[in-house]
Amino acid sequence: MAEELHPTCARCAKGVCDPDIKANEVPPIGEAPRFCPMRLSPELIDKAITEYDKTEVQEFARLASVQEFECYEQTEEGLRTRFPRIEELIQFADKCGYHRLGIAFCIGLRNEAAMLSAILENKGFEVISVCCKSGATAKERIGIKPEQKIGGPENWESMCNPIVQAEVLNAEEVDLVIMLGLCVGHDTLFIKYCRLPMTVLAVKDRVTGHNPLAALYLSQSPYYGRLSAKR
Ligand code: SF4
Repeated sequence: MAEELHPTCARCAKGVCDPDIKANEVPPIGEAPRFCPMRLSPELIDKAITEYDKTEVQEFARLASVQEFECYEQTEEGLRTRFPRIEELIQFADKCGYHRLGIAFCIGLRNEAAMLSAILENKGFEVISVCCKSGATAKERIGIKPEQKIGGPENWESMCNPIVQAEVLNAEEVDLVIMLGLCVGHDTLFIKYCRLPMTVLAVKDRVTGHNPLAALYLSQSPYYGRLSAKR
């Protein structure tokens, strides 16, 4: 039976989609692996690319790529990076002409939310922010059992409420939403319900200072080798 192929870019060593050729040459798509989406779904890709023909989409994509470009500089030693993500975010918001920014943050990062707000306000933005516990809704509302509450069965525990966060920010009609430290799953719901342009400053990782790639980098070492073990 023929092997069913699905896009698997993570296994690709060829990189035909970003070839080392001159600007007037054509990428050799035929040399891409059989699991390449460009070979599996060329019509889908052609159709998706027409989205950039929409004026506002093209302009947004153009500004994003200009921002990307400006995050590097050519020096005598070679290409160097220039800005941390928070500066990149500020610069991109300026480019887009955004004035009202909304922060959706986890209560565990309330200090970081305050710092981020102050930085953005100092740069001239109006900042709206909504904590994940907004709504003060007991976890029992979504079927959490007393023994599944982090602080113990006898105590009140507010559920994380990403739908409330999203709807409050939707109603505020901020220009850009910034996600700050939402948990896995809660972030999924937030993304599902938020109808505004959105970016991420940081994601929640309780044990790595919100740097999930730290565990990935250590997955080949004894420290987080358990990540690489098959189950
Ligand atoms: S798009 Fe094709 S060439 Fe590019 S990484 Fe994916 S499989 Fe490789």
